[in-house]
Amino acid sequence: MTQKIHRLPEAVINQIAAGEVVENPASIVKELIENSLDAGASHIDVQIVEGGQQLIRVEDDGSGMDPEDAVLCLERHATSKIGQIEDLQTLLTMGFRGEALAAIASVSQFELKTCREGVATRVVVEGGRITVVEPCARNRGTTIEVRSLFYNTPARKKFQKSASANASQVARVIETIALAHPEIAFSLSAGGKKSFDLPAQNRKERIEEILGGHEHEIVFEQKGILISGYLASPQRAMINRSGQHLYINRRPIFSPLISRAVKDGFGTRIGEHAYPPYVLYLEIPPDLVDINVHPQKKEARFRDDGGIYRLFQDAVSSAFSSAPTSFLEPISFTPPPLFSFAEEPKSNFVTREEPELKFTFTERPLAVMNGYLLLQKDHWLLVDLRAALSRILYESMSVEKGGAQALIWPLEIELLPGEEKMGEELAQIGIECRLLGKKTLAIDTLPPFLEAAHFPEFLAKWKEGKKLGDATSRFCRSLKKTFLLDEAELIWRRLQKCTDRYYDPTGKPIWVEVKEADLERVLRNAH
Ligand code: ADP
Ligand code: MG
Repeated sequence: MTQKIHRLPEAVINQIAAGEVVENPASIVKELIENSLDAGASHIDVQIVEGGQQLIRVEDDGSGMDPEDAVLCLERHATSKIGQIEDLQTLLTMGFRGEALAAIASVSQFELKTCREGVATRVVVEGGRITVVEPCARNRGTTIEVRSLFYNTPARKKFQKSASANASQVARVIETIALAHPEIAFSLSAGGKKSFDLPAQNRKERIEEILGGHEHEIVFEQKGILISGYLASPQRAMINRSGQHLYINRRPIFSPLISRAVKDGFGTRIGEHAYPPYVLYLEIPPDLVDINVHPQKKEARFRDDGGIYRLFQDAVSSAFSSAPTSFLEPISFTPPPLFSFAEEPKSNFVTREEPELKFTFTERPLAVMNGYLLLQKDHWLLVDLRAALSRILYESMSVEKGGAQALIWPLEIELLPGEEKMGEELAQIGIECRLLGKKTLAIDTLPPFLEAAHFPEFLAKWKEGKKLGDATSRFCRSLKKTFLLDEAELIWRRLQKCTDRYYDPTGKPIWVEVKEADLERVLRNAH
């Protein structure tokens, strides 16, 4: 059988394109809202019925279109946003380059009402064909109605989620956009009920309204790069990333790198499988970041992953070390001097993380007894937790001097005569404190793993010779403490980040391998 080549009808081409760009109600809402934003709208109202399958309606008060554009905009590759190929470079992030409306109209019963400079037009499209173009009544702006989604593509319709799943996805899409545009009013009504109604607000109000409060504010600027936004406190950590919002140059972006950096910035304040909610805005010169062009998943690649990673991690950990949780003022901090795009073109972030991940997956904590942890690898490891702890404390006070835990209630220490310099000396080992009057020192932060209740003991050991290694070691040896299994595991994991994982600061080994031969020897000797 011979087959002649023939051109596909435009309507079919649009439907195929729609498979790419119009996946579900949420992706349609996103496209329509982005168009409204581009049209300079200050109010955007969204209405859905049956999760959007029956109706999606997006109404704005933007620039609107004249009668000619109202028809043209439904043609594929019809756009007012790019004129020549060079424009693509800057606009790739914007979506579909003139494909969205054509695609949406090809898989729905579509109606557009738009008004520009007092002239209003109504256009109806059915199955991708324009059936009505007529004058109508409308104020400035545009309303788009999408009915019976996928009515003419039954295969796609079958794969749609439930109405309630679609509705919550739509809500999430609007929230995500609304967080980046607090100055614009948004509303959503689903099935005739108002889901939310956000007036024009400032950023802080918008975040509070959508996320129900925030705890730590971050503002940081360096070399033309600005990080700002809010972190929830560790208690509000979630089991997935749905509370995490990142905007790069105002566009919502998913970045595993930054998500990881923020989590690492939280340090041991949250568990391994907990995700801290945040809303963070990164303003960065466009030549330092590449936004993935795939319309559905926006991911970012940075020219210097390592620099960005450190920047976010430090921003977050500093936010915790500088203020109690009830403060709402911006927390400023001095960024690490290390950060520089010019000097560090390629990151070593991934390779640095790998050994640690391997450890986590291959070693299973079995039991803890009297300060010893038994781990299973291909053989057993016996870990002296006190030695491990003293290595961790030693490094966090001598090398890192950061990642400290802020105390909600400052710890007060009475200074003895001759101890006036104590504050400065403690500051050198990364413990932040203030003089209250002449004789009292208020301790504001402590290194992770040093509990406030144990601090006086540590201080006593440290005062004896001011030798850090010696002090941490003796302090940990004498520590009266029952270790729990998950705490022990945390200590073991944290140890993997130390530069020296084998010896405590006085040179004592932290762990030994227990081989089968060793066990046999022990058992033989028991006879
Ligand atoms: P793109 O946004 O990539 O240009 P679309 O298919 O989404 O492609 O839209 C095509 C064109 O229709 C836009 O370039 C714009 O000129 C016009 N348009 C779409 N939606 C609106 C709106 N809400 N208000 C004003 N103009 C709009
Ligand atoms: Mg568009």
